Amino acid sequence: MTTINLGIIGGGQLGSMLASAAKKLGIKTVVYCDDKNAPAQNFCDEFIFGDYQEEEKLNEFINKINLVTFEFENIPYETLKKINEVKKVFPSPEVNKIIQNRLTEKDFINKLNIKTTEYKLIRNKTNLEKISDFLPGIIKTCTLGYDGKGQFKINTKKELDNLNIDFNKEYIFEKLVSLKKEISVIITRFGSQKYEIYEPIENEHNEQILKYSKIPAEIDNNIFEKSKEWAKKIAEELDYIGTLCVEYFIDKNNTLYVNEIAPRVHNSGHLTINSHNISQFENHIRAVCALEKKETKKLFNANMVNLIGEDILKYRDKKFRENEFFFDYQKKEVKPKRKMGHFTTLIK
Ligand code: ADP
Ligand code: MG
Repeated sequence: MTTINLGIIGGGQLGSMLASAAKKLGIKTVVYCDDKNAPAQNFCDEFIFGDYQEEEKLNEFINKINLVTFEFENIPYETLKKINEVKKVFPSPEVNKIIQNRLTEKDFINKLNIKTTEYKLIRNKTNLEKISDFLPGIIKTCTLGYDGKGQFKINTKKELDNLNIDFNKEYIFEKLVSLKKEISVIITRFGSQKYEIYEPIENEHNEQILKYSKIPAEIDNNIFEKSKEWAKKIAEELDYIGTLCVEYFIDKNNTLYVNEIAPRVHNSGHLTINSHNISQFENHIRAVCALEKKETKKLFNANMVNLIGEDILKYRDKKFRENEFFFDYQKKEVKPKRKMGHFTTLIK
């Protein structure tokens, strides 16, 4: 059998964990990233440092691989489209085009008759003034936001009046949901109606950054089924190949909303490395490389804590029990609010 050379765009922790999963399956990986200190270079077979628009470097990358996937959704659409003309990109760049922008993403979800938060496009001062009747809410940049970056919480009319945002960018305003809980559903789609789906994961955020995840989620059967069903519908409709995550809000009246879609492996699914026979990363690699789809089963309940900023320092020389698993992303610099590692505990 000839070896598959898989290109991975993005070299953070998700790229690292994808590369590790690929290695286990005998697949070689080439990671392409615009950060010369990208941690994934410690886990992949080959690393290329280059900008996401740098044609020469991208060509060097394309020549080394058979197919491409990515660890994050904010790669320029034009870049993915160009690569896809030469070597196949999974999931399809068309998926990214929809999901890269919070407005087109939410419009897409609503067209499927799936509920999202109420939202409005903001392009100028007049649009901004009109939202005063819908407060409190959050203004988010339409593109390039993650871990709460590019978001402004607006509680009062006064805060709205004092807000100074750059109208060279577009924003959406989202009405604040009175949250009871957040959950996510991770699904890997291999082809039409062919998927492996993980049970809903319960998530807790601190300052808009994921802090804790656990299975089982404490939710009723109706939410359990509906969240899985919506994730399947979204994956089918996108004709998705690979692992995808749907983030949900549940409000105080037990109403389920889609918050956002991540067209990639997801932080809340890190616990699947230890809790399941096949992790979200391995399933992603299996799907994009067209390997055998294997029945995915839960082995243990689990919880995960994200180690953010200096949290990591306490864990580096800690002793662990046999049901505890520590992952150090090997990032060169410890920075506040930066995801540095995670820690999973299996509940036996
Ligand atoms: P990111 O792309 O940064 O993950 P999200 O839209 O998922 O952005 O927001 C991050 C977190 O902020 C959410 O998981 C949630 O905790 C909180 N949040 C965002 N939007 C809302 C909202 N409309 N109502 C309540 N909480 C919200
Ligand atoms: Mg999010």
